[in-house]
Amino acid sequence: MSDYDYDLFVIGGGSGGVRAARIAATHGARVGIAEEYRYGGTCVIRGCVPKKLFVYASKFSEEFEDAEGFGWTVGERNFSWEKLVSAKDQEIARLEGVYRRNLDRTGVEMHDSRAVVVDEHTVRLLSTGQTISARYILIAVGASPNVDTSLPGVEHVITSNEAFHLSELPDSIVVAGGGYIAVEFAGIFNGLGVDTTLIYRGEEILRGFDMDLRKAVHEEMVKKGIKVVCGDVFSSIEKRDDGQLVGHTKGGKALHAGQIMFAIGRNPHTADLGLEAAGVEMDGIGAIKVDSQSRTNIPSIFAVGDVTNRANLTPVAIREGHAFADTVFGNKPWEVDHSLIATAVFSQPEVGTVGLTQEQALAKTGNLDIYKSSFRPMKHTLSGRDEKMLMKLIVDADTGKVLGVHVLGPDAGELAQVLGITLQMGATKADFDRTIAVHPTAAEELVTMREPTERIRA
Ligand SMILES: Cc1cc2nc3c(=O)[nH]c(=O)nc-3n(C[C@H](O)[C@H](O)[C@H](O)COP(=O)(O)OP(=O)(O)OC[C@H]3O[C@@H](n4cnc5c(N)ncnc54)[C@H](O)[C@@H]3O)c2cc1C
Repeated sequence: MSDYDYDLFVIGGGSGGVRAARIAATHGARVGIAEEYRYGGTCVIRGCVPKKLFVYASKFSEEFEDAEGFGWTVGERNFSWEKLVSAKDQEIARLEGVYRRNLDRTGVEMHDSRAVVVDEHTVRLLSTGQTISARYILIAVGASPNVDTSLPGVEHVITSNEAFHLSELPDSIVVAGGGYIAVEFAGIFNGLGVDTTLIYRGEEILRGFDMDLRKAVHEEMVKKGIKVVCGDVFSSIEKRDDGQLVGHTKGGKALHAGQIMFAIGRNPHTADLGLEAAGVEMDGIGAIKVDSQSRTNIPSIFAVGDVTNRANLTPVAIREGHAFADTVFGNKPWEVDHSLIATAVFSQPEVGTVGLTQEQALAKTGNLDIYKSSFRPMKHTLSGRDEKMLMKLIVDADTGKVLGVHVLGPDAGELAQVLGITLQMGATKADFDRTIAVHPTAAEELVTMREPTERIRA
């Protein structure tokens, strides 16, 4: 391996790249990594972590209101966006430091630069022009927010990247998109007191999730005061002299707002990365094509995380990076199972989900028992809040196997983690039934739903 500067060179210091670099180094490999922005990547710097901190911040407005039902008198409330952003920035800086220290501790050499691929064993650092050779190259450059560049006035819109650093909170915002990032940011802004509209081109938000869940999230968002417009899309964005934006839609609406945020998807960050020259195959949106061990068509080049557009989530990128490093440098080959991934949407209320949606389950088997329960969580008996919780089990009627569990309500994301273990173990409805309830919790509903609300037979 000594013919090369490194055994492994990783491009991208995010979730997947950092994990791969550290694990490869602990297996004895000489590892270099390049990061063009900040270590920690999207998740830490401008994704999961700051987003969740903003979700916490935005929930206090309801907590203060709910407290009154429990006898509290809450005094004057003031919110400082400036303080929130500064506290968040401090925490992100701390985490970035942790990432850097951990890389350093394992002996990974960091290059604070954009890197591009020159050929199958060479990369170039753009900050210095230096070329570096490596036996293996790992592409872990993630994805970046997609905006419709052909839209007139698109230069006036922001994406999630800018939303974390706005100099002031707008009075009103329109969020374009219907995926989890759009839904989460609509909840954040609404909770912080911003007049919020969500506009989505599809018939219902949260495509890919169970339809009952999608409808329930939509309903709860509307109850909280978010205006949800489905089946429409912007045709142009106008900036008026007073700085206000007007989003004109194909359906003839004019949506006025202080800010317009696009969260309409993310594209793999592969433009100008030198991959074409190196002969690395990509698909139509620029995602790198890989096999189950994250190998590209070039034997010395691998790719993990969002850039491969498999399941674009941090824990998945981390797993893929870990599996790559164990397989190539640790003599411990293993593959990531992408078939059952528990996940959360930090909407308000929250979504936790694992396994198949009803639609997906129906495509697999014709005989399903559906158990569905919608109820008011105990807290809201006194708070008076009109908010419903939803729990849904999708069961294979022939085998009794639980194929999917979908939860909408407080802490649903926490529940999804545990439900992920049960479904991973192949739990049946009988396993749920013989589990004694934890009382009083909302989760006990999961083990007390006796009769199917719907029996679907082929
Ligand atoms: C707003 C938002 C919220 C999210 N919330 C969640 C959540 O709650 N849960 C969850 O699981 N996932 C969430 N995600 C998704 C998650 O952030 C990604 O799936 C994850 O970060 C992917 O990791 P990665 O290693 O593939 O890429 P990234 O973490 O994006 O890392 C890629 C890194 O490569 C760097 N880079 C790019 N090109 C180059 C180059 N040529 N040279 C050097 N460096 C380069 C980038 O600067 C970046 O730091 C969220 C994403 C966003 C945007």
